[in-house]
Amino acid sequence: PYTVEVRDLVVRHPGRAPAVDGVSLTLTPGKRVALVGPSGAGKSTLLAALMRLIEPESGSITVNGRDIRELRAEDVRRVMTGLPQDPYVFRASVRENLRLAAPEAGDEELERAVRRARLDRWVAGVGWDAGLGEDGRTVSGGQLQRLALARALLYDPPVLLLDEPGEALDDATAGAIMADVLDATRGRTVLMVTHRLTGLDQVDEVVVLDRGRVIQRGGHEELIRTP
Ligand code: ADP
Ligand code: ADP
Repeated sequence: PYTVEVRDLVVRHPGRAPAVDGVSLTLTPGKRVALVGPSGAGKSTLLAALMRLIEPESGSITVNGRDIRELRAEDVRRVMTGLPQDPYVFRASVRENLRLAAPEAGDEELERAVRRARLDRWVAGVGWDAGLGEDGRTVSGGQLQRLALARALLYDPPVLLLDEPGEALDDATAGAIMADVLDATRGRTVLMVTHRLTGLDQVDEVVVLDRGRVIQRGGHEELIRTP
């Protein structure tokens, strides 16, 4: 079990005011946290720091007490995997798209990840060796999201970082993606950026960011009022 601790984190894009300005949060094993807040609040930047895509100015991110800067990139990735907002697919087959993410993975692992991401029916329909990308109609936005989710799940990561799953899609598809993501990640630790109410009742903590700072945190029933 892994505990991820973000302490007094400050992250600045060059020449800008801090995008993340003293954020602390703890991801204990199995806990699901939703990160909400207006556009520009620093949500994506915080995820980027956790994925080591951007170096913090100060503060720390630790996994079981060890600073992630001291860990090897592949070790961090095995613990924490991110699902970006706009996942891509290669112009390659379904199988190759998955294999590229985890070259060591065997067929069984690919199949398990595909099942977990609710992609099995689609894959059964198009075939594992269907080429993706030659024809925009071959893969819908929803399946692309699920393919990216399957790719992330290949590592079997205990901690998942999700940046607005399904956001670029229409409401119905986004809702379905969110339901699948929550289902597929049950039992794992999740930090999820979202601005939808869908699924918020299933998270353990909602953290509200504004201008780089945590302005509120608590259970969804304390923070969210639905009509
Ligand atoms: P969101 O609010 O959904 O995170 P943004 O418009 O803030 O979307 O960001 C979209 C992308 O553009 C992100 O990859 C972000 O890092 C980048 N970005 C946002 N603001 C700037 C900026 N001022 N300069 C360069 N890149 C930016
Ligand atoms: P959110 O995800 O909550 O919309 P972001 O983390 O994308 O917020 O952005 C936080 C702040 O950092 C914003 O002021 C945004 O313009 C700025 N920003 C984000 N990405 C970049 C970037 N690549 N370069 C410069 N500024 C950026």
